[in-house]
Amino acid sequence: MNDELKELYELASRALSCQAEFGHRELILEKSTLTHLSSIENAQPGETMVKTSSSIPKNDSKENLPVNETASKPIPDYGKIPPMETTTDLLTQSEDVSAPKYSDLESHREAICDCSKCPLGQTRTKFVYGVGNPRAKIMFIGEAPGRDEDMQGEPFVGRAGKLLDKIIAAIGFAREDVYIANILKCRPPNNRDPQPDEMNLCMPYLKEQIRLIKPQFICALGRIAVQGLLDTTAPLGSLRRKWHRFEGIPFLATYHPAALLRFAKYKRDTWEDMQVLMKEYERINNDDQ
Ligand code: SF4
Repeated sequence: MNDELKELYELASRALSCQAEFGHRELILEKSTLTHLSSIENAQPGETMVKTSSSIPKNDSKENLPVNETASKPIPDYGKIPPMETTTDLLTQSEDVSAPKYSDLESHREAICDCSKCPLGQTRTKFVYGVGNPRAKIMFIGEAPGRDEDMQGEPFVGRAGKLLDKIIAAIGFAREDVYIANILKCRPPNNRDPQPDEMNLCMPYLKEQIRLIKPQFICALGRIAVQGLLDTTAPLGSLRRKWHRFEGIPFLATYHPAALLRFAKYKRDTWEDMQVLMKEYERINNDDQ
């Protein structure tokens, strides 16, 4: 197999593995594709170039996503993205009109990385600003750094972060394509929930990140992040399966990857949320072309 084919094979294999993680059990290939694959140089008789429904391993372990039927189900309807309600919804007229504005993420990060506006500034190991494409069209937002993130200074790097990477890959992106941030930039001690006053103090930083990135979509991960963005105490169950806006940007609520590691039953719902997100993403971006 030449290098180009090997690279293609690895890419396809990785994409299929991600789909399998999300429960897809079937891959339908045209006959001509199968013929082509089997004719590839050095492919041994019977060698499986692409995993098919019978060869994708079952995801029975707790770590993996469960077998689900959503691949063959229609994508659920979460309704329309709400219109901008008022002019204060617009990024340019955000409520933080007095907050300083920056020209790029790096200058913003440098300006705030020594922040001690709340007590978490005294207990953090590393400031966790955010990571990803400064021009990302999709932004994932969690609540706060955990232990691994606090040590490394990067959001979503532990087990939950690895699962988030798989979720991102399953919708066709790499971690570097999207932007990942938290509402809080510093770890609450012992991974306790962020306090409302901490979130209020830190929120202008997130809003500035959103203003600079200008994502097309936001996906909020977990109850606390969703409640923090929407300024509500409503349960996550009532906030999912519908579109919201934050800083004028359409956003969906889904489960935190850490919750998926603990409760496998949420994985199917998360996949549905991702399908809805991608359907809207494709609609908008295809219309743009
Ligand atoms: S959590 Fe936010 S407000 Fe609190 S010290 Fe860290 S950066 Fe500042």
